[in-house]
Amino acid sequence: TPTSGAVAPATVAQLVHISPSEAVLQSMYESAGRLNLGPEVVDLLRTSWREVRAQLPVRMDDRKLRIFEGYRVQHNGARGPYKGGVRFHPLADLDEVRALAMLMTYKCALMELPFGGAKGGVDCAPHELSAAELERVARTWLAKTEIVLGPERDIPAPDVGSGPQTMGWMMDEWGRMNGYAPAIVTGKPMVLHGSAGRAEATGRGVALALNDASHRAGVDPVGARVVIQGFGNVGSWAAILSAEALGCRIVGVANVDGAIHGPDGIDPRALKGLLEEGGRIGQMPGATEIEPDELFTLDCEVFVPAALGGVLTAERAERLPCRLVVEGANGPTTPEADRILARRGVLVVPDVLASAGGVIVSYLEWVQNLQHLQWEEADINGRLTMTMGSALHAVLNRADSRGLTMREAAYEIAIRRVIAAAAARGHLDASDIPG
Ligand code: NAD
Repeated sequence: TPTSGAVAPATVAQLVHISPSEAVLQSMYESAGRLNLGPEVVDLLRTSWREVRAQLPVRMDDRKLRIFEGYRVQHNGARGPYKGGVRFHPLADLDEVRALAMLMTYKCALMELPFGGAKGGVDCAPHELSAAELERVARTWLAKTEIVLGPERDIPAPDVGSGPQTMGWMMDEWGRMNGYAPAIVTGKPMVLHGSAGRAEATGRGVALALNDASHRAGVDPVGARVVIQGFGNVGSWAAILSAEALGCRIVGVANVDGAIHGPDGIDPRALKGLLEEGGRIGQMPGATEIEPDELFTLDCEVFVPAALGGVLTAERAERLPCRLVVEGANGPTTPEADRILARRGVLVVPDVLASAGGVIVSYLEWVQNLQHLQWEEADINGRLTMTMGSALHAVLNRADSRGLTMREAAYEIAIRRVIAAAAARGHLDASDIPG
């Protein structure tokens, strides 16, 4: 790390496989260097405020006991209560959750939401569990992390492998322990005071970012060929809204079961319906099944990673034929791939900007819950569009005026806001705030 001064992070990245947290730290270190941050400021941003790692003993349907591992990492709360999703995935571990928590700090700061950054995880494979088992896992995670949560302290939300139902169970478990408080989680079902527009929010934000950045990348969204990796909450809505609202043509889609190519356009609503009815992606009419790796070589103008992190590797970045990458997923591009894409002139709208739609509407859900109000979807979508639009504008302005990539500009803006809040609290000096 720069504070130890032993090895420059960029050198490490070239030598070894980089972990999720190292990848986020690298962007932070590079910004810290440009912004001339002092070592104690870098230390504050490099480390987490608090990391909970808990044993989750869960009784399976066959009465056997399984021990899962659960996490909640609170990275930085200078700007407000901690906020971030809970990932249910067999590979979820402390390092990944830590990386995702850091991203949340910067995402919330960039969007000017009054939240700090956190993330949670459980190392379980949700598709291998029954609904009853999944419910017990969700309730146990909540019970084991409850001590650091709270409607004005730390507010979980869905991420990969979790969804509105998971949030319903968690809200109920919190209620059993502390009394009814819908603002304890966001991304809840509508009947439990979820927000209109929350399900589509991250995908809607991806489509907004795609539209706003396309002109800069020399791409006309109408008829633009879009390839999407991941067809869950984020990918499916990003596909549907880019096709229906912007006129894009979805020519390639992948999920964990496989990948398809449809040069004449894949109907994303029909694909969503097929998958919801239990069909496989390879059964989609009008599309051909391809090898998952081929997805990264399909002719397209826009590539949207909307699955897991680290998928855009250096090797894939060299071949990626698009002109615009819109990061719906968190951390999909490795630092080396990022440099390659920049060198090749591929515009990358970074995760902290492109995938912020979910947390924006989560914030709106939280505000509604605290006031016991229910807003119309049109109001929600209007606020989402405004918030994303002004963040995008700020990022492009800084990128242009300082000759930065959009990721570099986004990190600089976000880091500056976090430091300003920490200084106002008296944790840092006013002289620590960069220009
Ligand atoms: P999800 O569980 O709803 O969907 C994940 C999708 O990725 C599924 O279609 C799955 O099949 C696919 N997938 C998994 N492994 C794959 C692989 N190896 N190859 C291809 N596809 C694969 O999750 P989500 O909520 O849509 O989250 C997707 C990404 O977006 C994550 O990186 C998440 O952190 C990020 N994100 C989510 C939200 C949100 O509101 N849900 C907000 C911001 C960012």
